[in-house]
Amino acid sequence: MSDYRGRFAPSPTGPLHAGSMVAALASWLDARAHRGAWLVRIEDVDTPRCVPGADRIILDQLAACGLVPDEPPVWQSARGPLYRQALDGLVAAGLAYPCGCTRSDIARALAASGASKPRHGELVYPGTCRNGLHGKPPRAVRFHADGPEIRWTDRRLGEQHQHVAEAVGDFVLHRADGLWAYQLAVVVDDHLQGITDVVRGEDLADNTPRQILLQHALGYATPRYLHTPLVRDAAGEKLSKQTGATAVDVADPLAVLKAAGAPLGIGADGATVGEWLAAAVTAWRT
Ligand code: GLU
Repeated sequence: MSDYRGRFAPSPTGPLHAGSMVAALASWLDARAHRGAWLVRIEDVDTPRCVPGADRIILDQLAACGLVPDEPPVWQSARGPLYRQALDGLVAAGLAYPCGCTRSDIARALAASGASKPRHGELVYPGTCRNGLHGKPPRAVRFHADGPEIRWTDRRLGEQHQHVAEAVGDFVLHRADGLWAYQLAVVVDDHLQGITDVVRGEDLADNTPRQILLQHALGYATPRYLHTPLVRDAAGEKLSKQTGATAVDVADPLAVLKAAGAPLGIGADGATVGEWLAAAVTAWRT
């Protein structure tokens, strides 16, 4: 085996649909093509969005398609102390700070400063609590986003750049409702699991600069990134559980794999799952 370590990191908000299958297959193929390890991590930190039992269904769907992790899966819900340790380190280093602002506090401060419009519906935090809570009780913990523009090269999308402080602002690491934010959990886990290559859907590409900024702050290495094409429905909408994408039916795993391979440009042949996957690894390599 090589040093390559990849992962598929589904949120158990429902069974896998055609779009998430593409990311699953791509991450598996890339790991196999590099003779590396492929891990599965269940990202169940956003508990209100998780559906009980969806984790098991996802693992069964993957297994039915011959996608079996090389190590036992991990559940983020069991890893809170690891995220706590990273967060405490960032706060102690002055790179993260408690924030007492409610959404309406933020909206008011932004309106008063005549500042930027919400981006993707998210408010760019104006930094009110950077220098203290002004008597308010702490709610969330935010990352102090500073520094130069982040540049990285995506293996499919090419050169990318984002100035996180301007585009996103001081983003949340620990939420006001007590839950861990995706950005922190994913960065800590990719580091602790020794992930060298992140292969995931393109809808997550604009999280990458925040994650790289956090990796720098925590002294972690930055993995390589490959963001896979999104699958759209007939109306041109990205397939997602929110837009009601249906679960893939693994009664015919070969059909599921072929459908997931198509947006990746994989037109492999094979009469069985094993044969198709072997041909697909060869096609991915070339
Ligand atoms: N859990 C995230 C999702 O299902 C993916 C995270 C990642 O691959 O970095 O959208």
